[in-house]
Amino acid sequence: MKASGPIPPEFAARELPLAEWIAQAGSTPLYAYDFGIVRARIARLRAALPSGVGIHYAVKANPYAPLLSAIAPLVDGMDVASAGELEKVTAVMTSKSMSFAGPGKRDAEIEAAIVAGATINLESEGEASRAFAIAERLGKVPRLAVRVNPDFELRGSGMRMGGRASPFGVDASRVTALVKRIGSAGAEWRGFHIFAGSQSLDTAAISETQAATVALAGRLAEEVDSPPPLVNLGGGFGIPYFAGDVSVNVEAIGRSLGQQLDRRPTILSATRFAVELGRWLVGEAGIYLARVVDRKESGGETFLVVDGGLNHHLAATGNFGTVVRRNYPVAVAGRIGAEAEEVVSVVGPLCTPLDRLADRVALPRAEVGDVIAVFASGAYGASASPSAFLGHPAVREILVGV
Ligand SMILES: *Cc1c(COP(=O)(O)O)cnc(C)c1O
Repeated sequence: MKASGPIPPEFAARELPLAEWIAQAGSTPLYAYDFGIVRARIARLRAALPSGVGIHYAVKANPYAPLLSAIAPLVDGMDVASAGELEKVTAVMTSKSMSFAGPGKRDAEIEAAIVAGATINLESEGEASRAFAIAERLGKVPRLAVRVNPDFELRGSGMRMGGRASPFGVDASRVTALVKRIGSAGAEWRGFHIFAGSQSLDTAAISETQAATVALAGRLAEEVDSPPPLVNLGGGFGIPYFAGDVSVNVEAIGRSLGQQLDRRPTILSATRFAVELGRWLVGEAGIYLARVVDRKESGGETFLVVDGGLNHHLAATGNFGTVVRRNYPVAVAGRIGAEAEEVVSVVGPLCTPLDRLADRVALPRAEVGDVIAVFASGAYGASASPSAFLGHPAVREILVGV
């Protein structure tokens, strides 16, 4: 038997309105995102952060349009990674608060960002040159920030010093020259974007990284000899997925950031700061629900075959950036918290052994027709999965608790 991950506390003692959700979606499989949880997350983060530190939503974590509309009024900005995401966000945000990061921005994407008034987080000198030329052709002043490839890294555990070769950002040693070019090209320099890592559950490491980020921004600002209007500190706050994982302490992160900002370099005294989070804001608000189509025995083990899997939820099958496959939090959806009665594997309908949502977990007995819930599924779910693979129907999505 293998352990299942921790069910988020908001769902652990709750009866899900399954019939209602399935009716609303039309059928299983589906993702349900509980906006009440997202709203509470944003409020908690707001209370924890020093006043004036902005909260940006990283859209790629979950770009479901109704979710974006609901989040927009509660955050200070949205960060996109493609023209497709930009288009979705333009519908719900004002230009001042949109930024566009990501390597390989095509000319048409740069143009769309300039037209929309979004800040482009430059990933390279070449991208800067193209942005200058496109802005000139359009007769517009582009808003440009420099994404810095920092000389440190936030890891799952701890912070490592030492820069790495990276497709993301401009090496810290070359940033000053690029900012000077932005100035001489007559573009509007918006500041720095410094993103050092993702999915960390190490509160101290996140604080250490933020301190290093503020220090780096100060150093670069001194070199440039100009205060950056905005420093985007990145995010990296993880959520518990697996047995033994413990949530980050955002209150402690906020206190530490407050101390860092109180003693920040003078050149940053008028600079605004923001954190940029995807997963932490929405991840635990989402549940993936799939119905048991078949129950079978093989080699002494029991398999529950459900109507969706890797095609909708690649991450839960352990195939999206995990080295060792471990179980997400799972439950029989109608009986969360009920006594376990058997050990089963939950597999999807795809003809590949990779399609396994839960490996040998203890659950109450489920029959054909029952629904299995996979928790912590609100980020990097539907949009991060190969939905066309094997041609099964697309997953449905609903937003509840708005
Ligand atoms: C993906 C991404 C994020 C969001 O990361 P999470 O782990 O979902 O919080 C933030 N900033 C940038 C630049 C990203 O690429």
